[in-house]
Amino acid sequence: MASTNGGASPFLIAGGGIGGLVTAYALARQGFPVRLFEQSSEFREVGAGIQLGPNVFRVLEKIGLKEEVLADAHRPPAQEMRDALTGKLITRIPLGDQFFKRFGQPYAVTHRADIHGTFLKACQGSNLITLETNRRVDAYEDRGDHVSVSLNNGEIATGRALIGCDGMWSKVRERVVGDGKPRVSGHIAYRAVLKRKDVPEDLWRPDVVLWAGPRTHFVHYPLRRGELYNLVAVFHSDHYEEGWDAEGSKELLWEHFKGEMPQVLRMLERINTWRMWVLCDREPVKNWSQGNVTLLGDAAHPMLQYLAQGACMATEDAVVLADEVAATPDDLPTAFQRYQQARYLRTGRVQIMARVYGEFYHARGVTAELRDLALGGRTPQQSYDGVAWLYGGP
Ligand SMILES: Cc1cc2nc3c(=O)[nH]c(=O)nc-3n(C[C@H](O)[C@H](O)[C@H](O)COP(=O)(O)OP(=O)(O)OC[C@H]3O[C@@H](n4cnc5c(N)ncnc54)[C@H](O)[C@@H]3O)c2cc1C
Repeated sequence: MASTNGGASPFLIAGGGIGGLVTAYALARQGFPVRLFEQSSEFREVGAGIQLGPNVFRVLEKIGLKEEVLADAHRPPAQEMRDALTGKLITRIPLGDQFFKRFGQPYAVTHRADIHGTFLKACQGSNLITLETNRRVDAYEDRGDHVSVSLNNGEIATGRALIGCDGMWSKVRERVVGDGKPRVSGHIAYRAVLKRKDVPEDLWRPDVVLWAGPRTHFVHYPLRRGELYNLVAVFHSDHYEEGWDAEGSKELLWEHFKGEMPQVLRMLERINTWRMWVLCDREPVKNWSQGNVTLLGDAAHPMLQYLAQGACMATEDAVVLADEVAATPDDLPTAFQRYQQARYLRTGRVQIMARVYGEFYHARGVTAELRDLALGGRTPQQSYDGVAWLYGGP
């Protein structure tokens, strides 16, 4: 089950999602051994797309994984927002040369399994990283000079520190922050991936297209060098089911999208099985570290997906964390405090702004009109100015 190992006392990581794997890799690149525990029986990501802003490529370049991630990705020429009831174009933001010139990095969309697979392969290629599946972190004790972690197989693992990369329902967070369950947003996302041949030719678009409707939105874009097509349909609902990736009812979806443009409905019709996510987030906090234990990614700052940044933020976290650890390797509590100090306002802003964008996408009546006026009048440079705080970082 374990693949490789390093020499000195390792960093222990709970969770092998995008955040856990990239953290393991970033630490190993700085020469630190890592033991990573994933509760599932294999390392895998759900079949869905993910958007990657230029900010993530800046940090991926730093750890040498930018080209690998781009190799499987699709580079959309533009992001477009349309009214789902009238079809009217609200705004079109170019993502080509002009965008690259402004931010110095590209915009891309990829399959979650592809970026996760790139991080997994990078970890497997490091003799400092031990990857273990079927290992759930159930509890931990910080003993000052080391941390001991209780695993579901009865083992007590010891290491220099514990990094909780265990996602939205983090066990490690329960202890470090203790702020209960995530906030249920009242929004539900249905996701599906089609093969390109299954997308009607007149509906296939190379761009990221968002159809904004009253209390709904629908996004589509190509994946995997254009071989696949990603669909995400979001609507307001009180339905609540804990966890991710349940099968979604088609009737519920149709109820919310009826009356929208034929391009939206024809695309929705193509899908037989939808996977459903009940979208949650949390209030931002400024302290997610305690002694030799810290949090990263969704465990630290879970956010709604409306800015398409959760995985990007986890990747930024990983690179900042590894740099801070390398700066004071013999004082991890200080390194963890500096890491969260560098991160909490940026990630908190994304948590808050993601909610605002969600309201914008789902606006009705006068609010929708105001949105259309505000966005429609912008030049590309003004649109870039609006996201410079995010894409210009970290
Ligand atoms: C609909 C939707 C669309 C999105 N779109 C985008 C996008 O376009 N761009 C973007 O950047 N982000 C996007 N995101 C957000 C992104 O998916 C998440 O922010 C990101 O995957 C978080 O990664 P993570 O590693 O922190 O957590 P997770 O991916 O949740 O990984 C946590 C891992 O820890 C494991 N685990 C949990 N508990 C334990 C335990 N006790 N012991 C051991 N292992 C454990 C889990 O099995 C899992 O493998 C989207 C999210 C949603 C829901």
